[in-house]
Amino acid sequence: MSKVAGLSLEEKHPVCKFKVGGLQEFTLIDFPGRPACVIFTQGCNFRCGYCYNVELVLPERFGNTMPLEEIFDFLNNRVGLLEGVVITGGEPTVQQGLEDFMASVKALNYPIKLDTNGSRPDVLKRLLEKGLLDYVAMDVKAPLYKYSQVCGVHVEVDKILESIRIIMSSGVDYEFRTTLLKEQLTEGDIVSIAKLIKGAKRFYLQRFIPGKTLDPKLSKGQSYSEEELNSIVQSIKDHFEECSFR
Ligand code: SF4
Repeated sequence: MSKVAGLSLEEKHPVCKFKVGGLQEFTLIDFPGRPACVIFTQGCNFRCGYCYNVELVLPERFGNTMPLEEIFDFLNNRVGLLEGVVITGGEPTVQQGLEDFMASVKALNYPIKLDTNGSRPDVLKRLLEKGLLDYVAMDVKAPLYKYSQVCGVHVEVDKILESIRIIMSSGVDYEFRTTLLKEQLTEGDIVSIAKLIKGAKRFYLQRFIPGKTLDPKLSKGQSYSEEELNSIVQSIKDHFEECSFR
């Protein structure tokens, strides 16, 4: 029977339900300060109109999942070459088997960065308590009054606030980030988001790049100009240790 870092790959084992939709073998920009690979999980509980990972979000567009043996063969072969593993989505915290999967990655001594939409604070808390996370990047999608609108589903905003609180008090390195489309967020909205995470270590404003999107109407969505982003950063940067746009 196949084994993954001591975990049985028997059909019933939770790690087997962990669905990987893709693997990027190398990145220098996704895990701050570390050459890393990126593992993309399949499935998401949000439907953000600007999302470009359509194949990882809409079940009818899912491709084949990657066998976990393949992922761990890759990780085993890169020990000493890669210095981190980014787990992104989709939304990783909706995956069954996430904790076991991360424990197997950790058993190979890889630091882990998790990208999350913050909708599952219970999962986040457990992963942090188990020492499975070395860096957390959470999307703060909108001010609370627009959260469900921007995410395309009903969002329990208390859970978003809880995730923000957990991350900021975790002692683990982290960042918050927001993707900006003029159609969705005004400058006033961005200031409201900044207030939600006031005192955070890092806040990055992400420029929307027009292209394939979940909501076709947003595929040509309007980004903020560099000048506008600069001025927004100036108006909120005092709330954070680090604040910039990218
Ligand atoms: S952008 Fe939204 S829909 Fe797309 S993966 Fe992230 S949370 Fe899910």
